[in-house]
Amino acid sequence: MEELWGRKVLLDEIHSAVVEQQAIRQLPTMQEEKQHVRCLRCGQFHLKRAVRLPNQHYFCPDCLQLSRVSSDQCFYHLPEPFPTKRAVFFGWEGTLTTGQQTVSDELLASVQHFESRMIWAVTGAGKTEMLFQSIHYSLEAGYRIAVASPRVDVCLELFPRIQAVFPEESSILLHGKMEEPYRYTKLVVCTTHQLLRFYEAFDVLIIDEVDAFPFVNNAMLDYGAKQAVKPQSSLIYLTATPTKGLLSLTKQNQLQTSILPARYHRRQLPVPKTKWCPNWRQKVQEGHCPRQLMRLTKELIKNNDVLIFCPSIHLMERLEEILRKKFPETTLAAVHSQDPARLEKVMAMRKKAYRILLTSTILERGVTFDGISVIVFGANHDVFATAALVQIAGRVDRRKTYTAGEVWFLHNGLTTAIKSAIKQIKKMNLLAKERGLLDEV
Ligand SMILES: [Zn+2]
Repeated sequence: MEELWGRKVLLDEIHSAVVEQQAIRQLPTMQEEKQHVRCLRCGQFHLKRAVRLPNQHYFCPDCLQLSRVSSDQCFYHLPEPFPTKRAVFFGWEGTLTTGQQTVSDELLASVQHFESRMIWAVTGAGKTEMLFQSIHYSLEAGYRIAVASPRVDVCLELFPRIQAVFPEESSILLHGKMEEPYRYTKLVVCTTHQLLRFYEAFDVLIIDEVDAFPFVNNAMLDYGAKQAVKPQSSLIYLTATPTKGLLSLTKQNQLQTSILPARYHRRQLPVPKTKWCPNWRQKVQEGHCPRQLMRLTKELIKNNDVLIFCPSIHLMERLEEILRKKFPETTLAAVHSQDPARLEKVMAMRKKAYRILLTSTILERGVTFDGISVIVFGANHDVFATAALVQIAGRVDRRKTYTAGEVWFLHNGLTTAIKSAIKQIKKMNLLAKERGLLDEV
């Protein structure tokens, strides 16, 4: 029975022999309208003639990666049991900064009142620690709680940290490539895709990196998140770079928001500096290293390792060849999303195996390296949207020890994205100063 509590799954997704039981509810998989069908797993509408099967039923192409759902099937579901209070061991011994504590308290109040909230915390603020108090409260109240992220690497990092704080609590990590079979737990860490398999399951749902791909502007995952929570529940959005949609909800007072403008180490966010770099694209394509990039790299590498963000893989590969000739004595590598050695290279960079790492936007979030400076090469390129630039700048100075890391945007035309990224960072620093969350350097 437990296996189906709060779930919405197809017959072949069920592990135990529970479907015989009478209490089990069968929910429709599709809703038919005149010309369209709506998939009730992912909420998407399709033209009937586009998704008709030979047997005259319909299937959904949008959530195919979870397994094919068609209108001749049904979902199996059981409602969550009523929450019962219990004692839950809380194994966290750290302390929160003043700023973190305020946000943690506001979050708890939202959870207690089944309200939604956005937590806008700058990169490197220490977001995870602020969740522990509310997770503990929820578990003790008998609630079911999920921490979800669009990015599997974020889930992989979050899960052991949360497990360490609640070592006696049974918990599960769910993502597309997991091998462990599903089982019922009150504490779930999962990718946002996995939420499509839940129905009115969670009293509290926390979505980390809510502005990241693939969650951002994704109607299917948004539908999944809203289906996964109980009618009376608390939906918490965590982000360092909120989307326009979330910000406008905040402005209209439709979403309560906590802002944490300072990092836990009480230093301000590094403000990116801009440098004019004419014809950066042509120069690299012709096999030359732009003079500004050369000078800057030489300067920055005296104090820190250097991460160079490139707007395209093609350009990055050309630049890699050029820099290898210019810096023959320096350990150097390049990494992008399709690189099979991606994880190894990131690990090697963490262990300081390279002095220079060229990267696509893949490393814009979710990674922390010790002692680095960052250059965004061709920062006026379209791939570098405001959120990407704020996240990239946020890679620098995340550790407790100060290494004078710098952020540079090399461009040949200031874009709105560059200007608004710098403005946003400065605004957060000012807010942090006003609230007394920074130490004098
Ligand atoms: Zn679907």
